[in-house]
Amino acid sequence: MTNIAVITLDTLRKDVFDRFFDWIPGVNFENAWAPSHYTIPVHGAMFTGKYPSESGVHAKSEKLREDILVLPELLQREGYTTRAWCENLLMCQQGFDKGFSQFIPIGRAQITEERIFPWRKYISESNKPTWLAYSLAMLNCVFEDYETVRSFKFGWEAKTNSFNGTEEVINQAKKTNFGDREFLYINLMEAHSSHLDNEFEPFGDIEEHRNCWDNYVKTGEYLSERCEELYNTIKDDFEYIILCSDHGELFGEYGLCHHWHGLYSELTHVPLAIIAPNEDSTQRSDVVSLLDIHQTVLSVSEVEHPSRGRNLLSKIDSEPILTEYHGIRPSQIEYLQECGMSEETIQKYDTRQNGIITSEGSFGFETVNGWNIENNGNDKNEYLQRELRELVSTLEKNEEKSEEQRIPENIQSHLSDLGYI
Ligand SMILES: [Zn+2]
Repeated sequence: MTNIAVITLDTLRKDVFDRFFDWIPGVNFENAWAPSHYTIPVHGAMFTGKYPSESGVHAKSEKLREDILVLPELLQREGYTTRAWCENLLMCQQGFDKGFSQFIPIGRAQITEERIFPWRKYISESNKPTWLAYSLAMLNCVFEDYETVRSFKFGWEAKTNSFNGTEEVINQAKKTNFGDREFLYINLMEAHSSHLDNEFEPFGDIEEHRNCWDNYVKTGEYLSERCEELYNTIKDDFEYIILCSDHGELFGEYGLCHHWHGLYSELTHVPLAIIAPNEDSTQRSDVVSLLDIHQTVLSVSEVEHPSRGRNLLSKIDSEPILTEYHGIRPSQIEYLQECGMSEETIQKYDTRQNGIITSEGSFGFETVNGWNIENNGNDKNEYLQRELRELVSTLEKNEEKSEEQRIPENIQSHLSDLGYI
C-alpha cells in the first residue's frame, strides 16, 4: 500500500499554525515557502511541478491547462484511485478536477454542482415578494431535478454563512472505503472564510482589522482540533499525509488586507508538515517550496515525471527558490475600479514581482516601493538580486494565456463572499 493524502488548510498563516498544530507526529518544515501569493498559482505549481510562469497558471491565466499533465493524472495512469474533496470554489471553477476519478465539491463549492438549487440567482431574479420567492424556491427544490435535502441544507448554510467543510470532509472520510493505491487531495476553507465580513476591506491598518484577526486565530485553534480528528480518521489508510497551507493572509500589514497583492512573508512563508513511515516528530530548517510536494508525491508513489521539485523525504540539495506575483486578478481590478481607486494606483499594484529565498533563508523580494529584504543573515543584497536574476533566467516561461473561464452568475456572489471579487 502506498496511499498518499495532501491536505491544504487554505489561507492559514504560519504564525497561527505554529500556535496550535503541535500535535502533528511528523516532519515540520520551518522554512517552507509558497511559489506565489494565492490559491491558483500555488496549486498550479504543486500539481504541475513548475513555477507559475512556467505552468502558465496564475492571476492573468487561471485555468489549469489541458496540455500539461498534472499530478493526479500521472497517478491515475499508474492505477491510483484519485479523489479530491475540495472546498475552494475557485479551484472547482478553474479545472482543478483534472485527473481526479472522484471530485467532490465541499461546503460553498457545492454551488458548482448542477443538482444544487441556485438560491441566490433565483431569488435575485424573481420579481415576486420575498416570502413568495422563497416558497417557490422551496417547491423547485422538491419538484424539479435537484437534490432536495442537500439543496435545502446548502440554502440554509449560504444564508447563515455556516458552511462547515471540515466536518463534511471528516464524515466523507468515515464513510469511504479506501483501497490500496489511493491519492486523496483535500482543501479546507475555514481559515479563508472565518474573518470575512463587511469590515474586512482590501485596504486599512491592523487596528481596523483587529476583530477579524481575533476570529482568524480562533479559527486556527478550531482547525487544529478538527484536523487532529481528520488525521485520526485517515491515518490507518494513508501512509503519507502532507499538511500545508497554500498562502497566508494580511490583516493590515503594509496597509493591505486579504491575499490579493504582494509576496510579503505573511503570505508566502507557509506551514508544511509531512507524516510518513519511519519519520519521527522533527523540525527541519532547510529552505523548501510547496512546489516540492509534486516530486515528493511522485517519489513515494514511484512515478517518474519531470519536476522542478525535490523529494522532501530524502536529503535535498540546498538551492534558492522562487516566489512570483503576476499582478491583480481581473475581477479584483474591476472591484477596485468600482471602489473608485485611480487607474494609476491600480497599475502600480498590477505589476509582476519576484522574490527569492536563498538556501541560507534570506528572503529578497520586489514590492511596489522597490526591493525589500527579510532575514538576510550573511547574504548580501547584491548577491540576492543576482541570484534572483539567474533563477528567473532559467524559467521556461509559458506566456500563452489559458482559455478564460467565464464564471456563471450564480457562482459570482459566492466568490464575492470569499473575498475573491
Ligand atoms: Zn488559497
